[in-house]
Amino acid sequence: MRQTLTDGPVVSIRDVGKTYSSGTTALQNIYLDVAPHDFVSLVGPSGCGKSTLLRIIAGLGDATSGSVTVNGETPTSPKARQSLGYVFQDANLLPWHNVQDNVALPLELGGVGKNKRREAAEEVLELVGLSDFAHAYPRELSGGMRMRVSIARALVTEPQLILMDEPFGALDEITRQRLNQELLGIKKQTGATVIFVTHNVFEAVYLSKRIAIMSAQPGRIVHTVSVEADAERTPDFRGTDVFSRTVVEVTEVLERGIARPDTAQQKEQVA
Ligand code: ADP
Repeated sequence: MRQTLTDGPVVSIRDVGKTYSSGTTALQNIYLDVAPHDFVSLVGPSGCGKSTLLRIIAGLGDATSGSVTVNGETPTSPKARQSLGYVFQDANLLPWHNVQDNVALPLELGGVGKNKRREAAEEVLELVGLSDFAHAYPRELSGGMRMRVSIARALVTEPQLILMDEPFGALDEITRQRLNQELLGIKKQTGATVIFVTHNVFEAVYLSKRIAIMSAQPGRIVHTVSVEADAERTPDFRGTDVFSRTVVEVTEVLERGIARPDTAQQKEQVA
């Protein structure tokens, strides 16, 4: 299990705003603390700033205002970067590398020797159920398998924090549900903290301890919902009252958050 580096939150976001040079204000007044071992989903309509926020946490983009820390450090610091793994919407595998070499890439870039890279890649490939495909090439894999490789690549540096940007958005529903289950198993085994972006409410409720719901542009966190389920998440969870109640709650907040004030006013005038 990953070591917790500090007693405080793994991620602390204080009054973050982001306006792109194009003039688009993507984020406004974002506050969020993410505790060690938490699983937090960011949900919201397309274009509400979920990816922008995740990229800022990863140090891949900067905030215009406010502050973000990862284990007390600025996200661009080497220590913060070492403590996180990032899974993109697309698997982004190198077609000329086999699975093992794709997975080991972050270690290769970090100057880790060949034997250690192979050992680490084998370990995470086992975790994602792809040990038998270590020497296959990306073109030989299904979409779900490519995403598993991408997850293994994010895990290979043993990050304390995993940031996932709609990793299962392009997959069919059955594969998505299977990978949801596998992700929960990986989280349990590694003890990692996860921040997960999705616009799929069912997926968010199934996976998360907490769901931060964002409004349409400029993105703000309008509400945070805790998923009050003690039991282990197995497919039966989808049939429980807690599951359906939480789906309804999140959906209602989303619908209210999406309605912009002027639209609401217009609706009132029409009524
Ligand atoms: P989401 O992930 O919720 O779909 P994004 O974070 O991708 O939202 O985008 C939020 C808003 O910021 C959108 O209006 C998008 O067009 C805009 N945006 C994202 N990236 C850039 C960029 N590099 N330059 C300018 N505008 C951007």
